[in-house]
Amino acid sequence: MSSINSTITRLTLISPESTCNTDLAKGPWAFDTGAPAYGPGSSENDVAPAATPRQGQIPAEYRQASDEELTGRILAAKEALGERLVILGHFYQRDEVVRFADFVGDSFQLANAALTRQEAEYIVFCGVHFMAETADILSTDEQQVILPNLAAGCSMADMADESSVEECWEQLMELYGDEPTAEGLAPVIPVTYMNCSAALKAFVGRHGGIVCTSSNASTVLEWAFERGQRVLFFPDQHLGRNTAKAMGVPLELMPMWNPRKPLGGNDAASLTDARVILWHGFCSVHKRFNPAQIERARAEFPGVRVIVHPECPMEVVDAADEAGSTDYIQKAIAAAPHGSTFAIGTEINMVNRLAAQYPQHHIFCLDPVICPCSTMYRIHPGYLAWVLEALVRGEVPNRITVAPEVATDARIALERMLAARP
Ligand code: SF4
Repeated sequence: MSSINSTITRLTLISPESTCNTDLAKGPWAFDTGAPAYGPGSSENDVAPAATPRQGQIPAEYRQASDEELTGRILAAKEALGERLVILGHFYQRDEVVRFADFVGDSFQLANAALTRQEAEYIVFCGVHFMAETADILSTDEQQVILPNLAAGCSMADMADESSVEECWEQLMELYGDEPTAEGLAPVIPVTYMNCSAALKAFVGRHGGIVCTSSNASTVLEWAFERGQRVLFFPDQHLGRNTAKAMGVPLELMPMWNPRKPLGGNDAASLTDARVILWHGFCSVHKRFNPAQIERARAEFPGVRVIVHPECPMEVVDAADEAGSTDYIQKAIAAAPHGSTFAIGTEINMVNRLAAQYPQHHIFCLDPVICPCSTMYRIHPGYLAWVLEALVRGEVPNRITVAPEVATDARIALERMLAARP
């Protein structure tokens, strides 16, 4: 488990001049009324589904409190709750929130970290909705998972909804049939990235499939190829393409599935020849990176080590020195010789935090314009104070629950991932 404690230098990230959207300087509550939307930040142009949970306004006392007051109230509530509470902070979460976290990591690390604190009745997940669902699936029946702002979804996860994936599956079954080959290979194995709803994790669990993270995607694809002729990979086309390409799968055998078109916009022959069918999804944060930024970094800092996340487009991964998960990036920086220079292609909060944690290196983000994950941004200390004080009073706001039958199937897919070894 890679976790860091909360003694983190606080950085001022958001000033109206330095961001992709000056609205980021406002409190997120400015966007928590009205129709569901991702708000300012990298996914502001993505369309939030109508079913996206609505947060609604939190009381004015939390919206108007100073940083100091919120800090005092959060620390007091934490102390009052003691061992009954564990706070989880995602790598991409803002520092003003992460500083209160007991564990910091990626979504799966955090769900597992919560397992080490089974005495904690309340798991407050300062991440996004699918992460809180995963924590609920893996936690005990006595634990309750709370997401401080219900509007903290994930635009990538929302790009693959259950009914579109079911429809895709029906079309593929009609095309391929459901009989395995003489060697026992199924026509297609569904593989989902961790960044998806619990319903989709359950879908892959029911259909002989598996979940992957950005750390183990190639191991998981190998697992799937041992059992199937093809893979249906969702929701992130880039992680699927980058991983399969590195494993030697030719690009022409990776058609894209557009859920709005019959056969995903493909002809039957290309789907028959396919090795990996890529869902048309992406992360708006990682889509911002491009090869020109890498060229600029190399010109300005000869010898710079460029590491990008595999959610970045293929051209970016190809132009970088390395691609790896958040955990990989952190470990690479920790192990580097003193005085190294890194250009990193991932979310800005994480990059700035790494720069503060490793002052012996020069670490900067490939994207010069600060544009954080819009949905992580929705969690602010005001929301954290609001949920913690409610818990102290014995109320449980914003609880995230996964129906038992969904959790059972999703757990099967997660257990297959844990059992898949290189
Ligand atoms: S960084 Fe991208 S994939 Fe991660 S939560 Fe934000 S939108 Fe979703």
